[in-house]
Amino acid sequence: MVQAMVGNLGGQPILILPEGSMRTTGKDAQKQNITAARAVAEAVRSTLGPKGMDKMLVDSIGDIVITNDGVTILEEMEIEHPAAKMMVEVAKTQNEEVGDGTTTAVIIAGELLKKAEELLEQEIHPTVITKGFKIAKDESMKILDEIGKPVSLEDTETLKKIAVTSMYGKSAEKASTHLAQLVVDAIKMVAEKKDGKTIVDTDNVKREKKHGGSSDETELVRGIVIDKEIVHPAMPRTINDAKIALVDVALEVKETETDAEIRITSPEQMQAFIDQEQKMLRGMVDKVVASGANVLVCQKGIDDLAQHYLAKKGVMACRRAKKSDMEALAKATGGRIVTSLEDLSSEDLGYAKTVEERKIAGESMTFVRDCKDPKSVTILVRGSTEHVVDEYDRSIEDAVGAVASALENGKIVAGAGSPEAEVSSRLKKFAQKFPGREQLAIKAFADALEVVPRSLAENAGLDPIDMLVELRAKHENGGVMYGVDLVAGKINDAFAAGVIEPLKVKLQAITSASEAAEMILRIDDVITAGKLSRGGMPPGMPPGMEGGEE
Ligand code: ADP
Ligand code: MG
Repeated sequence: MVQAMVGNLGGQPILILPEGSMRTTGKDAQKQNITAARAVAEAVRSTLGPKGMDKMLVDSIGDIVITNDGVTILEEMEIEHPAAKMMVEVAKTQNEEVGDGTTTAVIIAGELLKKAEELLEQEIHPTVITKGFKIAKDESMKILDEIGKPVSLEDTETLKKIAVTSMYGKSAEKASTHLAQLVVDAIKMVAEKKDGKTIVDTDNVKREKKHGGSSDETELVRGIVIDKEIVHPAMPRTINDAKIALVDVALEVKETETDAEIRITSPEQMQAFIDQEQKMLRGMVDKVVASGANVLVCQKGIDDLAQHYLAKKGVMACRRAKKSDMEALAKATGGRIVTSLEDLSSEDLGYAKTVEERKIAGESMTFVRDCKDPKSVTILVRGSTEHVVDEYDRSIEDAVGAVASALENGKIVAGAGSPEAEVSSRLKKFAQKFPGREQLAIKAFADALEVVPRSLAENAGLDPIDMLVELRAKHENGGVMYGVDLVAGKINDAFAAGVIEPLKVKLQAITSASEAAEMILRIDDVITAGKLSRGGMPPGMPPGMEGGEE
């Protein structure tokens, strides 16, 4: 079905696009893209900072998420417009790269586009704007690096402040010193030093959620927590020096899959049949025992009778463990997941100092403590309801990401809008080195960065204009660390106030924001294919053509 041809043949217009597709070009395309992208930024702007509001998102099947987390909001919003989707990508990249600063990145991108729109109206060509933005972005990186201060694994108090700032960014009440301490402890346990560099694999910090209880009960476990109980009451509840078999096969006798009928004509036959089944289950249990395992974690089911045999042999077992838990256990305990009991040998077993069952909020969970790899830790996240726990969990995730990226990059900056204000101030001076139009673009970039302190002030109910005037004055006079003090309602030294963020969050936020803005600005032609109809066919296609030609 290729209809692509060019131009005008002998006065006859030629279709170059399939029917049903839409095309927008030039200024219209730019305007539409900018509007859509800005709408995304507007949607999350009110959540920025400790005084930011939360959003309640209800999906098509009625599930509710209450959050203040930029990337979560955008992921839940099911955004359709292509330019708006690019903004969602900004948030996702930010989240993957540094795990914090998602709202910041998105609102900077939105503000850059707003400023670009004003320049477009002054007939400045998009190419000039994107060039200016790129120059400004590169210079911003240099400025940020200059104002960054070093941090190391030993600076516990500073690391805690980073965790608090990251959690406080979400909501004041979620920033307990208790949680900050846990996050820093967890990071210290998993951090490694290599050639003078600190490396933190945040995958080693697992989180397991359990609602019921309060956030004060959130705890750090050296090892892995699995949300499963021990299957049989006669099994031990604690095992020391655990040798753990990780099995991805059911300890059950398979039901016959086809409808084959088994005719039993005598009681002896019946008995023989049962005996046979028992023998098979016993055989399975014997294999586990023969490997030397005293703990069995099974990804599939375990038959009641097999449970009974295991209990008799003193083996502790969990069943239907999640695949992700199996993988985490394999990594942490040094065990191997086997898919056939025939293969199970002592070499496949993982090791942990203790495995025990504990009741948490009335439900049993299994704790695998002090694993072979001591770098595996779990934060057991607690809170009153499911929604609360989910939001705590996101805050902890952000805090872990923030502390980890501060250590990996080795530098920190003050927060509260101070780095954005400082970069903005220096960029304005830097812009003067450039000729007319480029200078305007660099200045526009500088202005756009002020959206961060402005939004922080606005969200806290402060007068954004007063705050910005005071903030600019401080930064012009060497007040590098001055930001918006949301409690005192004035401009203060944010570093001294303990509002500290990783430099990397700022580097990444400005980079991805400006790259997204540049990309959106460079588009002057949007071609949208016709929507697929429900049958999976483009509209206008004759019936009976599914499956396609060729
Ligand atoms: P993001 O998704 O971008 O991380 P947040 O809602 O977490 O957005 O807000 C982060 C912003 O809040 C940062 O600019 C940070 O410096 C600021 N912030 C955090 N704590 C404070 C505080 N105590 N006072 C002022 N600003 C703060
Ligand atoms: Mg944050």
